[in-house]
Amino acid sequence: RAKQSDKGTFRWFEAGMDMRQRERRALEIELRGAEIEREFELHCQPIIRTQTGKLRGFEALLRWQNPRRGMVSPADFIPIAEETGKLDELGRWVFAMACREAATWPRDLVLSVNVSPVQFRKGNLVGGGLALAGSGLEAHQLEIEITESVLLAESSTNLAILKQLRSLGVRIALDDFGTGYSSLSYLRQVPFNRLKIDRSFVCEIGRCPESLAIVRAVIGLGTNLGIDTTAEGAETVVQLEALRAEKCGELQGFLFSPPVARKSVASIIGAYFEETSRLA
Ligand code: C2E
Ligand code: MG
Ligand code: MG
Ligand code: MG
Repeated sequence: RAKQSDKGTFRWFEAGMDMRQRERRALEIELRGAEIEREFELHCQPIIRTQTGKLRGFEALLRWQNPRRGMVSPADFIPIAEETGKLDELGRWVFAMACREAATWPRDLVLSVNVSPVQFRKGNLVGGGLALAGSGLEAHQLEIEITESVLLAESSTNLAILKQLRSLGVRIALDDFGTGYSSLSYLRQVPFNRLKIDRSFVCEIGRCPESLAIVRAVIGLGTNLGIDTTAEGAETVVQLEALRAEKCGELQGFLFSPPVARKSVASIIGAYFEETSRLA
C-alpha cells in the first residue's frame, strides 16, 4: 500500500518537473524570437547619498514586456538569456540605451549597469566601451556591476578586462555582496570602487540584529579598504536611520523609489535639482 502511494507521489512529482521544463522551454523560445526594441525597456532606480539625501545616479534594470505574459522578471529571463546567447544582443542593447540616456543627465550623476559573466566573452564589454565613447557620456559616469561569479571562471581574462575598464575611468561595483561565496581575496585583486550590500541583509535591519551586524561589518570593510558602500533594498525609515548611523555611503530602495520607466527619470532628476537650488 505504502509502495503504491509512493509511486503516486513520484508520478505527480515527475509531472510537475515536466511542466516546469516545458514552461521554461516555452519562455526560451519566446525569448529567442523576441524583438528587443519592441519588447524590452530599461528602467532606472535612483541611488541616493545616505547622509545628504541627494541623488547620486541610477541603476539600469532591464524589463521584458512579453506580449502574452506581461512583465517577466529579469530573475526569470536573465539566466535563460545567458544560456541561449540572447544576452549578447540584449547586453549590447542595454549598454547602448543606458549610455544614450545617461548622456543627457547632469555630469555628476552616475549610471550603473549590471553585467553577467557571459558578457565578458566575445568582447562585449569592449563594445560597451564603444557605446560609451559614441554617446558623449563620460567614463566616470559609468559604473558596471558584477558579481563574484565573474571571477570564478576565466578569472585571469576577466580580471584583465576589468583592469582595462578601470584604466578607461569606468567604475566597478561588486553587486550582491555577502551572498554567494564572497571570497574576500577578490577585494585584493580587483580595484573595486563600490561594494553593494545585498538586499537580504538590508531588508532585515530592524528585525534581525545579526543582519545589522553584518551590514556594519561590510561598511567597516569598505571604509578600511577605501571603497564606498551602497545598501540595496532599503524599505523603511528605521533602515535609513541605521544606514545613516553606520555611515553607509549610498542607498537604493523602495523607500525612495522603485525602478521607474525612462520617461519618469527626467522628472526625478528635475525634482532633485530643484530641491538643491532651493536649499542653496
Ligand atoms: P540587482 O542587480 O541586485 O538589482 C537590484 C534588484 O533589487 C532589482 O530587481 C530591484 O528592482 C530590486 N530592488 C531595489 N530596491 C528594492 C526594495 O526596496 N525592495 C525590493 N523588494 N526590491 C528592490 P530586478 O529589477 O527584478 O532585477 C533582478 C536582477 O536581475 C538584478 O539584481 C540583476 O542582477 C539582474 N538584471 C537586471 N537588469 C539587468 C541587465 O540589464 N543585465 C544583466 N546582466 N542583469 C540584469
Ligand atoms: Mg545590481
Ligand atoms: Mg546585479
Ligand atoms: Mg544586487
